[in-house]
Amino acid sequence: MKKIVIIGGGAAGMMAAAGLAEMGHGEKVILLESNDVLGRKVAISGGGRCNVTTGLSDIKKVLSNYPRGAKFLRHAMYEFSPNAMCEWLENHGIPLKTEKDNRVFPKSNKGEDVVKVFEKTLVESGVEIRYQSTVKSIQKGFVVSLEDGEKIKAESVVITTGGQAYRETGSLGDGYGFAESLGHTITPLAPSLSAFTVKDDWVKKLAGLSFSEVRLRLSGANRYEFSGPILFTHKGITGPAVFALSSLAAYEILTPDNPTRLAIDFSPNESYEALTQKLVEAMQTAPQKRLSNTLGKFVYKSMGPTLCALADISENRTNAEVGKKGLARVVECLKNTTLTVNGRLPGEEFVTAGGVTLTEVNPKTMGSLICPGLYFAGEILNIDGFTGGYNLQAAWCTGRFVGLCTCTDFE
Ligand SMILES: Cc1cc2nc3c(=O)[nH]c(=O)nc-3n(C[C@H](O)[C@H](O)[C@H](O)COP(=O)(O)OP(=O)(O)OC[C@H]3O[C@@H](n4cnc5c(N)ncnc54)[C@H](O)[C@@H]3O)c2cc1C
Repeated sequence: MKKIVIIGGGAAGMMAAAGLAEMGHGEKVILLESNDVLGRKVAISGGGRCNVTTGLSDIKKVLSNYPRGAKFLRHAMYEFSPNAMCEWLENHGIPLKTEKDNRVFPKSNKGEDVVKVFEKTLVESGVEIRYQSTVKSIQKGFVVSLEDGEKIKAESVVITTGGQAYRETGSLGDGYGFAESLGHTITPLAPSLSAFTVKDDWVKKLAGLSFSEVRLRLSGANRYEFSGPILFTHKGITGPAVFALSSLAAYEILTPDNPTRLAIDFSPNESYEALTQKLVEAMQTAPQKRLSNTLGKFVYKSMGPTLCALADISENRTNAEVGKKGLARVVECLKNTTLTVNGRLPGEEFVTAGGVTLTEVNPKTMGSLICPGLYFAGEILNIDGFTGGYNLQAAWCTGRFVGLCTCTDFE
C-alpha cells in the first residue's frame, strides 16, 4: 500500500488529508502534528471566530487579494473555490454566515468547530493522526525522521508546516529547512498583515477613533497606496487598510532607525477645492463658532483640537479669525496628515510573506519540480493574501488540490 506522510496538521495539512481520504484510492495517510491538537492557528483565527473564506465568488476578484502568489494559485482556486469550501463545510455539518464585508464565518462563531469537523472526518476515514510528533528532517526517498528518533518511510511527502507567524501555535518555520534540504529555495521572509507603530505622540489622543474610508500612502523605498477602514490605537494605527498596506509593503524596513512617512487622506472622495469650499461654507455659516468644533462636522468632534494643533492654529480661534493661510493648512491636514511609522505589530491576522519559490512547484499539482513525490500546500508557499479569509482559502485550496493530485499521481 502506498504511504503518504503529511507534515503539519494546520489548515492545509488537514484539508490535504481530508482530500486524500475523500478522493484517494486507499493510500495509507499519516498526518504528523507537533502539537497535541490539530489546527491550533485555525481555532484562534479571526479572533476565535475563524474567517474561513471570502464570500466573493468571482475568482478573478478573489485572486486580486493576493499580493504574492495570485498567478500560481489560479488552478487550485478554480478547482476548489471559496464557494466550494463553503459547500464542503456545510455538507460536513458547519452552517456558515457571510457578513456584510464578505467575510464568511461559522454561524456558531467558533473556530474550534471547524477543527472538530476535520478531526471527525479524518478519524472516520482512517487517516492516522499522530499528535506530538515533531518532524526533524526528511531524506529523499522518503525517510521522515521524528524528534523521538522514529523514522517513517513513505512514497510521498506533503509539507504543510505553515509560515512562522504566531510561533506559539506551533508554526515555527521548520518546513523552510526541510524544503531547502530537498533542493528548494526559500524567498526572503517577512511579516505581513501587521499594524503600524508610529512615533507621533498626538496619535495617542485619537486612540479608539475609527474611519470607514481613508486613503493611505506609504513612502518607503517604494510607494504604496491603499484605501479602506483604519483605527487609531495607543501605539499607532491598525485596521483593514493598514493590514493591506503592510502586506503590499511587507519587504520595506520599518524600524525606529529606518522610519517611513505615512500620509492619511481623511476625505479621499473629495478634491482639495471641493473640501475647501465645504469648509468655507461651514465657517461662514457660524463665524463665532470655534474652528475646532466646526471641524467636528468633517471628522470626529474629539479630533478638532488635534487637527487645529497640527495646522498650527490655536484651539480657541473662531472661524472668523481663521485666515486663508490657516484654512489651507487645515485642508492640508484633512487631505494629507503625515505620520512617522517606526515599526510593525501583529494584527488580528498575521502571516509570513515569502516561502517556497513558486517556480519550483507545479501549480497544476502542487508537486515539487525538483524532488519527485514531494508536495507543498498552505502558507509555506510564497503566497499570502489580505485579511478577509484569503489566507485560509489559499491553505484550503492548495491542500485540497494536493490531496487530489497526490492520489491521481499514484494511479
Ligand atoms: C492570529 C491569527 C489569526 C488569523 N485569522 C485568519 C482568518 O480569520 N482568516 C484567514 O484566512 N486567515 C487567518 N490567519 C492566517 C491563517 O490562519 C494561516 O494563513 C493558515 O492557518 C495557514 O495554514 P497552514 O496550514 O499553511 O499553516 P498552519 O495553520 O500554521 O499549520 C501548520 C501546522 O504545522 C505544524 N508543524 C510545524 N512544524 C512542524 C514539524 N516540524 N513537525 C510537525 N508539525 C509541524 C504546526 O504545529 C501547525 O499545526 C490568521 C493568522 C493568525 C496568526
